Amino acid sequence: MLPSREQIERAAYERWERRGRFHGADREDWTAAEMDTVFELNYRTIAEFSLAEPERRVIGNERRPRCRFCEQSPPRAAFSVVRAVIPELAGNSSLYTREICDECTEQFAATMDPEFARFWESLDASRAGTASFRDLRAPTSIPIAAYKSLIRMALSLMPEQELSSFTDTIEWVSNPDHQFDRSLFESAGCLAYQAHVPYQAGWACLSSRNEEDAPFPCMLFFLAAERLILQMHLPLCALDEDLDGTEVRMPRRSFSTGTGSDLRTSTCLVLPLNSAANPPRTRRFRLFW
Ligand SMILES: [Zn+2]
Repeated sequence: MLPSREQIERAAYERWERRGRFHGADREDWTAAEMDTVFELNYRTIAEFSLAEPERRVIGNERRPRCRFCEQSPPRAAFSVVRAVIPELAGNSSLYTREICDECTEQFAATMDPEFARFWESLDASRAGTASFRDLRAPTSIPIAAYKSLIRMALSLMPEQELSSFTDTIEWVSNPDHQFDRSLFESAGCLAYQAHVPYQAGWACLSSRNEEDAPFPCMLFFLAAERLILQMHLPLCALDEDLDGTEVRMPRRSFSTGTGSDLRTSTCLVLPLNSAANPPRTRRFRLFW
Protein backbone atom coordinates (compact mmCIF):
# COMPACT_ATOMS: atom_id res chain seq x y z
CA MET A 1 0.00 0.00 0.00
CA LEU A 2 1.39 3.39 -0.95
CA PRO A 3 0.67 6.48 1.14
CA SER A 4 -1.57 9.21 -0.21
CA ARG A 5 -0.20 12.67 -0.85
CA GLU A 6 -2.09 13.89 2.22
CA GLN A 7 -0.49 11.26 4.45
CA ILE A 8 2.99 12.25 3.32
CA GLU A 9 2.13 15.92 3.68
CA ARG A 10 0.94 15.38 7.24
CA ALA A 11 4.12 13.45 8.15
CA ALA A 12 6.32 16.12 6.53
CA TYR A 13 4.47 18.82 8.46
CA GLU A 14 4.95 16.94 11.75
CA ARG A 15 8.63 16.66 10.98
CA TRP A 16 8.86 20.35 10.28
CA GLU A 17 7.23 20.98 13.67
CA ARG A 18 9.66 18.59 15.33
CA ARG A 19 12.62 20.52 14.00
CA GLY A 20 11.20 23.66 15.61
CA ARG A 21 9.49 25.00 12.48
CA PHE A 22 12.87 25.69 11.00
CA HIS A 23 12.69 26.31 7.25
CA GLY A 24 15.19 25.22 4.66
CA ALA A 25 14.87 21.43 4.88
CA ASP A 26 11.53 21.01 3.09
CA ARG A 27 12.90 18.58 0.57
CA GLU A 28 14.58 16.42 3.21
CA ASP A 29 11.40 16.49 5.31
CA TRP A 30 9.30 15.38 2.34
CA THR A 31 11.65 12.54 1.33
CA ALA A 32 11.94 11.30 4.92
CA ALA A 33 8.17 11.55 5.42
CA GLU A 34 7.56 9.54 2.26
CA MET A 35 10.02 6.79 3.28
CA ASP A 36 8.64 6.58 6.81
CA THR A 37 4.97 6.48 5.78
CA VAL A 38 5.61 3.75 3.19
CA PHE A 39 7.30 1.69 5.88
CA GLU A 40 4.70 2.37 8.57
CA LEU A 41 1.82 1.49 6.28
CA ASN A 42 3.36 -1.75 5.09
CA TYR A 43 5.23 -3.20 8.06
CA ARG A 44 4.74 -4.00 11.70
CA THR A 45 7.44 -4.81 14.23
CA ILE A 46 7.27 -8.41 15.43
CA ALA A 47 10.48 -8.56 17.46
CA GLU A 48 12.65 -5.85 18.90
CA PHE A 49 15.58 -6.14 21.28
CA SER A 50 17.98 -3.74 22.86
CA LEU A 51 21.43 -5.35 22.76
CA ALA A 52 22.60 -3.73 25.98
CA GLU A 53 19.93 -4.59 28.56
CA PRO A 54 21.14 -4.69 32.19
CA GLU A 55 19.97 -8.34 32.41
CA ARG A 56 20.58 -11.16 30.00
CA ARG A 57 17.61 -12.26 27.95
CA VAL A 58 17.81 -15.87 26.76
CA ILE A 59 15.56 -17.17 23.99
CA GLY A 60 14.40 -20.80 24.09
CA ASN A 61 13.19 -23.49 26.43
CA GLU A 62 15.60 -24.21 29.27
CA ARG A 63 14.46 -27.76 29.95
CA ARG A 64 14.19 -28.95 26.39
CA PRO A 65 16.19 -26.83 23.94
CA ARG A 66 15.82 -27.48 20.24
CA CYS A 67 18.26 -26.21 17.63
CA ARG A 68 16.61 -23.87 15.12
CA PHE A 69 19.04 -24.89 12.42
CA CYS A 70 19.40 -28.69 12.57
CA GLU A 71 16.14 -29.19 14.50
CA GLN A 72 17.81 -31.58 16.95
CA SER A 73 17.21 -31.76 20.70
CA PRO A 74 19.21 -33.50 23.44
CA PRO A 75 20.52 -36.18 23.55
CA ARG A 76 21.08 -36.07 19.77
CA ALA A 77 22.49 -32.55 19.98
CA ALA A 78 24.52 -30.92 22.74
CA PHE A 79 23.80 -27.45 24.10
CA SER A 80 26.72 -26.78 26.41
CA VAL A 81 26.28 -23.00 26.78
CA VAL A 82 23.88 -20.28 25.68
CA ARG A 83 25.01 -18.45 22.53
CA ALA A 84 24.98 -14.79 21.60
CA VAL A 85 22.18 -14.13 19.07
CA ILE A 86 24.17 -11.19 17.67
CA PRO A 87 27.96 -11.56 18.01
CA GLU A 88 29.38 -9.71 21.01
CA LEU A 89 31.77 -7.89 18.67
CA ALA A 90 28.69 -6.23 17.13
CA GLY A 91 27.79 -4.67 20.47
CA ASN A 92 25.52 -7.35 21.97
CA SER A 93 25.88 -7.88 25.69
CA SER A 94 22.39 -9.09 26.58
CA LEU A 95 20.63 -11.16 23.90
CA TYR A 96 21.35 -14.91 23.99
CA THR A 97 19.72 -18.11 22.80
CA ARG A 98 19.51 -21.75 23.81
CA GLU A 99 18.38 -22.71 20.33
CA ILE A 100 21.70 -23.21 18.53
CA CYS A 101 23.40 -26.51 19.24
CA ASP A 102 27.14 -26.96 19.69
CA GLU A 103 27.59 -28.56 16.29
CA CYS A 104 25.78 -25.78 14.40
CA THR A 105 27.71 -23.16 16.39
CA GLU A 106 30.95 -24.85 15.37
CA GLN A 107 29.90 -24.92 11.75
CA PHE A 108 28.85 -21.26 11.72
CA ALA A 109 32.11 -20.31 13.43
CA ALA A 110 34.04 -22.10 10.71
CA THR A 111 32.04 -21.05 7.67
CA MET A 112 30.59 -17.58 8.18
CA ASP A 113 31.29 -15.79 11.46
CA PRO A 114 34.85 -14.70 10.57
CA GLU A 115 33.58 -13.19 7.32
CA PHE A 116 30.92 -11.28 9.24
CA ALA A 117 33.58 -9.99 11.67
CA ARG A 118 35.68 -8.73 8.75
CA PHE A 119 32.67 -7.10 7.11
CA TRP A 120 31.65 -5.45 10.41
CA GLU A 121 35.21 -4.19 10.87
CA SER A 122 35.18 -2.68 7.39
CA LEU A 123 32.31 -0.49 8.61
CA ASP A 124 34.13 0.61 11.80
CA ALA A 125 34.70 4.23 10.77
CA SER A 126 31.15 4.76 9.55
CA ARG A 127 29.75 3.12 12.68
CA ALA A 128 31.81 5.29 15.03
CA GLY A 129 31.09 8.33 12.93
CA THR A 130 34.70 9.30 12.36
CA ALA A 131 33.96 9.42 8.66
CA SER A 132 30.85 9.56 6.52
CA PHE A 133 30.07 7.04 3.79
CA ARG A 134 31.16 9.70 1.33
CA ASP A 135 34.55 10.30 2.90
CA LEU A 136 35.73 6.81 3.50
CA ARG A 137 36.43 3.68 1.62
CA ALA A 138 33.27 1.95 2.75
CA PRO A 139 32.67 -1.52 1.34
CA THR A 140 30.85 -1.67 -2.00
CA SER A 141 29.35 -5.11 -1.49
CA ILE A 142 28.69 -7.73 1.17
CA PRO A 143 30.35 -11.18 1.02
CA ILE A 144 27.85 -14.04 0.94
CA ALA A 145 29.19 -15.59 4.16
CA ALA A 146 28.70 -12.30 6.04
CA TYR A 147 25.21 -11.97 4.56
CA LYS A 148 24.39 -15.52 5.61
CA SER A 149 25.67 -14.82 9.11
CA LEU A 150 23.30 -11.83 9.39
CA ILE A 151 20.36 -13.94 8.20
CA ARG A 152 21.34 -16.53 10.83
CA MET A 153 21.05 -13.78 13.48
CA ALA A 154 17.62 -12.75 12.17
CA LEU A 155 16.38 -16.36 12.32
CA SER A 156 17.76 -16.72 15.84
CA LEU A 157 15.65 -13.89 17.23
CA MET A 158 12.52 -14.57 15.17
CA PRO A 159 9.33 -15.38 17.14
CA GLU A 160 8.90 -19.14 16.99
CA GLN A 161 5.52 -19.09 15.23
CA GLU A 162 7.05 -17.32 12.21
CA LEU A 163 9.77 -19.92 11.61
CA SER A 164 7.52 -22.24 9.57
CA SER A 165 7.60 -19.76 6.66
CA PHE A 166 11.38 -19.89 6.61
CA THR A 167 12.13 -23.59 6.19
CA ASP A 168 14.12 -22.98 2.98
CA THR A 169 15.96 -20.07 4.57
CA ILE A 170 16.99 -22.23 7.52
CA GLU A 171 18.13 -25.00 5.22
CA TRP A 172 20.17 -22.54 3.17
CA VAL A 173 21.79 -20.96 6.25
CA SER A 174 22.65 -24.41 7.60
CA ASN A 175 24.30 -25.46 4.35
CA PRO A 176 28.04 -24.78 4.60
CA ASP A 177 28.31 -24.65 0.79
CA HIS A 178 27.85 -20.93 0.07
CA GLN A 179 27.55 -21.52 -3.65
CA PHE A 180 24.52 -23.77 -3.17
CA ASP A 181 21.47 -22.08 -4.71
CA ARG A 182 23.66 -19.01 -5.12
CA SER A 183 21.74 -17.98 -8.24
CA LEU A 184 18.61 -17.36 -6.17
CA PHE A 185 20.36 -14.44 -4.55
CA GLU A 186 21.27 -12.35 -7.57
CA SER A 187 19.38 -9.33 -6.36
CA ALA A 188 19.99 -9.78 -2.64
CA GLY A 189 22.23 -7.67 -0.46
CA CYS A 190 21.85 -5.17 2.32
CA LEU A 191 21.37 -1.50 2.99
CA ALA A 192 23.79 0.27 5.30
CA TYR A 193 22.64 3.54 6.84
CA GLN A 194 24.71 6.05 8.74
CA ALA A 195 22.61 7.92 11.29
CA HIS A 196 23.35 11.54 12.12
CA VAL A 197 23.48 10.89 15.89
CA PRO A 198 24.67 7.55 17.38
CA TYR A 199 22.22 5.25 19.18
CA GLN A 200 23.00 4.91 22.88
CA ALA A 201 22.55 1.15 22.74
CA GLY A 202 22.60 -1.25 19.83
CA TRP A 203 19.31 -2.85 18.78
CA ALA A 204 17.98 -5.56 16.49
CA CYS A 205 14.51 -5.75 15.04
CA LEU A 206 12.31 -7.79 12.70
CA SER A 207 9.48 -6.21 10.74
CA SER A 208 6.81 -8.18 8.94
CA ARG A 209 4.75 -7.14 5.89
CA ASN A 210 1.09 -6.31 6.65
CA GLU A 211 -0.50 -7.33 3.36
CA GLU A 212 0.29 -10.61 1.68
CA ASP A 213 0.42 -9.28 -1.88
CA ALA A 214 2.12 -5.92 -1.34
CA PRO A 215 5.23 -5.75 -3.57
CA PHE A 216 7.64 -5.63 -0.63
CA PRO A 217 9.65 -8.45 0.97
CA CYS A 218 7.78 -10.33 3.71
CA MET A 219 10.32 -9.95 6.48
CA LEU A 220 12.99 -7.32 7.13
CA PHE A 221 15.84 -7.50 9.60
CA PHE A 222 17.55 -4.45 11.11
CA LEU A 223 20.73 -4.39 13.15
CA ALA A 224 22.01 -1.13 14.63
CA ALA A 225 25.13 -0.12 16.54
CA GLU A 226 26.26 3.44 17.20
CA ARG A 227 25.63 5.28 13.92
CA LEU A 228 25.32 2.22 11.68
CA ILE A 229 22.09 0.43 10.76
CA LEU A 230 22.03 -2.60 8.47
CA GLN A 231 18.80 -3.63 6.75
CA MET A 232 18.10 -6.74 4.72
CA HIS A 233 15.18 -8.93 3.75
CA LEU A 234 15.01 -12.59 4.70
CA PRO A 235 15.45 -14.58 1.50
CA LEU A 236 13.57 -17.74 0.48
CA CYS A 237 10.47 -16.97 2.54
CA ALA A 238 7.50 -19.19 1.62
CA LEU A 239 5.19 -16.17 1.90
CA ASP A 240 7.15 -14.41 -0.84
CA GLU A 241 6.54 -17.15 -3.41
CA ASP A 242 3.38 -15.46 -4.67
CA LEU A 243 5.52 -12.51 -5.67
CA ASP A 244 7.42 -14.58 -8.26
CA GLY A 245 7.97 -12.48 -11.34
CA THR A 246 6.93 -9.28 -9.56
CA GLU A 247 9.17 -6.27 -9.14
CA VAL A 248 9.65 -6.19 -5.41
CA ARG A 249 10.90 -3.01 -3.82
CA MET A 250 13.07 -2.77 -0.72
CA PRO A 251 11.52 -0.02 1.39
CA ARG A 252 13.97 2.57 2.70
CA ARG A 253 13.86 4.18 6.10
CA SER A 254 14.84 7.69 7.07
CA PHE A 255 16.33 6.74 10.47
CA SER A 256 16.11 10.37 11.48
CA THR A 257 18.08 11.30 14.58
CA GLY A 258 18.90 14.54 16.35
CA THR A 259 16.55 17.05 17.87
CA GLY A 260 15.18 20.41 16.86
CA SER A 261 16.95 22.04 13.94
CA ASP A 262 19.55 19.26 14.15
CA LEU A 263 17.05 16.55 13.08
CA ARG A 264 18.61 14.77 10.11
CA THR A 265 17.93 11.85 7.84
CA SER A 266 20.56 9.09 7.66
CA THR A 267 22.64 8.50 4.57
CA CYS A 268 22.28 5.14 2.84
CA LEU A 269 24.54 2.77 0.91
CA VAL A 270 23.35 -0.24 -1.13
CA LEU A 271 25.65 -3.22 -0.67
CA PRO A 272 24.80 -5.95 -3.16
CA LEU A 273 26.04 -9.48 -2.62
CA ASN A 274 29.47 -9.70 -4.19
CA SER A 275 30.05 -11.41 -7.49
CA ALA A 276 28.06 -14.53 -8.22
CA ALA A 277 29.34 -17.67 -9.81
CA ASN A 278 26.16 -18.66 -11.62
CA PRO A 279 23.90 -16.89 -14.09
CA PRO A 280 20.60 -15.71 -12.58
CA ARG A 281 17.47 -17.80 -12.72
CA THR A 282 14.05 -16.32 -12.37
CA ARG A 283 12.73 -18.28 -9.40
CA ARG A 284 11.55 -15.91 -6.63
CA PHE A 285 11.35 -12.21 -7.15
CA ARG A 286 13.90 -9.70 -8.25
CA LEU A 287 14.47 -7.06 -5.65
CA PHE A 288 14.75 -3.39 -6.58
CA TRP A 289 16.73 -1.12 -4.35
ZN1 LIG B 1 22.01 -27.53 15.42
